[in-house]
Amino acid sequence: MLAAFAGWNDALLEMLSKVEHVFKWGIYDRDPLAHWTSGRITLLGDAAHPMMPTLAQGASITLEDAYALARNVARHADDPRRALRAYEAERIDRARRVQLQARDQFNTTKKCRLRRRSAATGSSSTTPPPSRWRSPAKRRLVPRFRSS
Ligand SMILES: Cc1cc2nc3c(=O)[nH]c(=O)nc-3n(C[C@H](O)[C@H](O)[C@H](O)COP(=O)(O)OP(=O)(O)OC[C@H]3O[C@@H](n4cnc5c(N)ncnc54)[C@H](O)[C@@H]3O)c2cc1C
Repeated sequence: MLAAFAGWNDALLEMLSKVEHVFKWGIYDRDPLAHWTSGRITLLGDAAHPMMPTLAQGASITLEDAYALARNVARHADDPRRALRAYEAERIDRARRVQLQARDQFNTTKKCRLRRRSAATGSSSTTPPPSRWRSPAKRRLVPRFRSS
């Protein structure tokens, strides 16, 4: 990992040098589900609507789900199935919208990045262009980090 970040800001490199375990994984979403609820079981958060992180909304939508779920369970305390159906009805359209917007944004960002890369290198090479953070002027913009 340190080799991948060679030339970046010293403070960042110092922070990364403290990392003991590194995992690398892909970013995936799923198509919106038609339903989240079955009888007395329902889903919320990423289990219901895993989305691309491009809009930074996954956790926010999850918290909204939790609030709506709690409110509906309290409102229909004598009928859990109704509570879960009401929760789903309240949340599913909004979550679906954000999930699909995050996917669109991810695809747009990816296309722009590839276009910029082709323009910078004059080719369709998959080698990343030099990071702007390699410039000493840019590095000064990053606040110092000291782990000790
Ligand atoms: C790179 C990245 C950046 C992101 N940035 C943002 C951001 O800026 N803003 C934002 O709002 N969201 C962001 N998100 C999304 C956000 O992290 C998720 O949407 C959110 O954490 C979903 O919460 P959750 O409770 O549904 O799932 P999780 O947070 O995944 O919680 C599920 C928990 O269940 C546990 N678990 C799994 N299986 C079992 C089992 N069998 N038994 C017991 N426990 C189990 C897991 O260990 C985990 O702790 C980002 C996500 C990624 C990947």
